[in-house]
Amino acid sequence: MAGHDFEENAERWRVRPHKKLHLADIDPRSKAGAPGNKAVTSGIVEGLVTQLGEWQTRLWAEGQRSVLMVLQAMDAGGKDGTIRKVFTGVNPQGVRVASFKAPTPDELAHDFLWRIHQQAPADGELGVFNRSHYEDVLIVRVNELAPEKVWRARYEHIRAFEENLAAAGTTVVKFFLHISPDEQAERLQARLDDPTKRWKFAAADLDVRKHWNAYQAAYEEAITETSTKTAPWYVIPADRKWYRNWAILQVLLAHMERLDPQFPPEEDGLEGLKVV
Ligand code: ATP
Ligand code: MG
Repeated sequence: MAGHDFEENAERWRVRPHKKLHLADIDPRSKAGAPGNKAVTSGIVEGLVTQLGEWQTRLWAEGQRSVLMVLQAMDAGGKDGTIRKVFTGVNPQGVRVASFKAPTPDELAHDFLWRIHQQAPADGELGVFNRSHYEDVLIVRVNELAPEKVWRARYEHIRAFEENLAAAGTTVVKFFLHISPDEQAERLQARLDDPTKRWKFAAADLDVRKHWNAYQAAYEEAITETSTKTAPWYVIPADRKWYRNWAILQVLLAHMERLDPQFPPEEDGLEGLKVV
């Protein structure tokens, strides 16, 4: 697949800065632009996973810049599955996954970005945020954990924070895995019905589900407010896992190609040298 295709495909899901996002207009079951059916696309995904691994080797070898992938979704939206699939070709040494749960008392005693910043990827690393600082304008808003004045001011703080990361050499790429309420119901039910999946089920997920519309509104506003040129959001139709994986890889590979990390220059005198 020619290089510019990644870039072109990624545009399909990118949220343009200053354009109001309407999630209801995006079909979570979409398979628009897919190279084929499930079997064909899944086959292609295998090759893309390998390509991502190759880019990550270069990023690590170059050791000058980093990439941060932010993953947000409703419960059972597929964050874990995405991480498992997309990074199978990547050397674990160069990846740092941070999962953000409800803050501890110590974390709560600091500003909301304190715990986040500590997990930002270092030079050469590919960082993944499984949930993120966006929870502080999502669940915090819906559950009224902070007054509106407080969470609303965070859009500005988030934009500045991500600008700062970018200025330090981190490419910030943000994904919202967009699933339908029906798909969520099916996946939560599957977690309940299958004893090997039940550990993933939290009774609290059902309470969150009751606030579906409030969360969609919170996501719409948060994404609209923070999809910038430096740190774009991508809304990925995610009811079909094979399409979701393919789409995310298109976006990541587009960014990797643009970054184009290089192996460091060779030391002199290595050519023809024999190890004895
Ligand atoms: P899964 O999708 O597999 O259930 P998960 O990401 O939901 O995984 P959990 O341990 O079930 O993982 O949930 C983490 C919880 O922590 C979520 O409900 C999330 O909203 C909450 N959380 C994360 N950050 C914050 C925050 N800053 N303030 C309050 N709650 C938060
Ligand atoms: Mg959960």
